[in-house]
Amino acid sequence: MSPKDPAYFDTILARTTQLALNHLHNRDAQPIGAQATAADLRARLMKPLLAEGTAPERVIEELVADVAGGLHNMNTGRFYGWVNGGVLPASLAADWLTSAWDQNAANYAVSPAAAIVEEVVGDWLKAIFNLPAQTSFALVTGTQIAHVTCLAAARHRLLQNRGWDVEAKGLNGAPPLRILTSSERHGSIDRAARLVGIGRDNIHPLPCQADGTLAPDVLRDALSQHSDAAIIVALNAGDLNIGAFDDFASLVPIAHAAGAWVHVDGAFGLWAAASPKHRAKTRGLELADSWSTDGHKWLNTPYDSGIAMIADHEAHAAAMTYRASYMLVADGVRDQMDWGPDWSRRARGFALYAAMRELGRDGIAELIDRCCDMAHALVTGIGALPGAKLIWEPTINQGLVRFLAPTPDATEEDHDRHTDAVIAAVNATGEALFGGTTWRGQRCMRVSVCGWQTDASDVERAIAAVRSVLLRNEPLGHAA
Ligand SMILES: *Cc1c(COP(=O)(O)O)cnc(C)c1O
Repeated sequence: MSPKDPAYFDTILARTTQLALNHLHNRDAQPIGAQATAADLRARLMKPLLAEGTAPERVIEELVADVAGGLHNMNTGRFYGWVNGGVLPASLAADWLTSAWDQNAANYAVSPAAAIVEEVVGDWLKAIFNLPAQTSFALVTGTQIAHVTCLAAARHRLLQNRGWDVEAKGLNGAPPLRILTSSERHGSIDRAARLVGIGRDNIHPLPCQADGTLAPDVLRDALSQHSDAAIIVALNAGDLNIGAFDDFASLVPIAHAAGAWVHVDGAFGLWAAASPKHRAKTRGLELADSWSTDGHKWLNTPYDSGIAMIADHEAHAAAMTYRASYMLVADGVRDQMDWGPDWSRRARGFALYAAMRELGRDGIAELIDRCCDMAHALVTGIGALPGAKLIWEPTINQGLVRFLAPTPDATEEDHDRHTDAVIAAVNATGEALFGGTTWRGQRCMRVSVCGWQTDASDVERAIAAVRSVLLRNEPLGHAA
């Protein structure tokens, strides 16, 4: 068949739809955690790249067969690892169309509809998070690159205030920049600091209080000790372990009084602002200068969905805008590459647009509230099992549990090893998937609920899986 034939894509896309549906139909019956080893996957996938091509249908049939057992079953109600959500139907479908439409979403001229959809998405997000009207934004790959985008804007503003044009001169000889942040920050802050030239050694972590938040006095003291440098204060809206929200209403004015830029990591926690029940945790959020979040965590879009939002739109544009003679620039519209670090890029606005329309504002709030309720039931349910110890009762969608080694005179190290062994054994049942973390020096099971499908029956089934592991009589194989 010629590619000019209107039916050229029919066979492969119809077959692919069927293969995707097979995956989705079986999702509750299949193990949640991947069971294949790296060696299994290499043995199947490392085919020689032949000189001649392969028929498209065969490429897809073999791909599906070869990845079998190597996919975590994330789009279910029993995946609780890594703050990863599932994918909403309209958002998945919009993501398929994004590929079929094959748009380059660099700017308006290259794809008008992609540009306008992003304008709409930006307005909706600002309203959901209750951010200042002039806030500008960029749709990027994830919170990691959202941090890079926000810190580039911060770097512009802070250095321009000191008479230094960083876009022209770079950082060689520039006034010093430092980041004051929480000991509970996510590692993506450190990587962003490396990428924008601030450097790891210029991150100064401050100790947290028992609830995981920064104390105003600690920040005030640190700001006065670092008054020789331009400062970015990086705060948490939902830290990675316990979902702690810094007290923005107290901390942001303190930072601003010292001339600092305040950036908020809200990879999942920013979405609490969408819920009337949980919104109070974000009090004062709107006072900050920049915010990072994800669509692919709590909103349940497909991956490749990060969002940078920046109140100082002039600093944002100064850090990103570029004009080349061959570019077509249209008046009166928003060109995406004026705001993000990409040039050619995926039209990632479509999947966000679809997810938000599918849920509506009330649906987003319900998703947030339901996940928090399920996280509470799951963590307290596991924590109440014999041999388990509740370490952090969720106040949002994150909680921690530790498992105590049943041997007499067991040490904390024994409990650490036992905790890792229980997590591995639960994951091996295929009934649910949990992550682990070291929190305040102790290994814990980290429980995160942010999938749209998790309901009470999933929670019961997951608790039963943990119970069955704890009731086993034989010793658990201790993970190294
Ligand atoms: C997941 C996460 C990140 C990183 O987000 P990506 O989308 O993976 O880049 C940053 N901060 C927190 C608190 C997170 O949970």
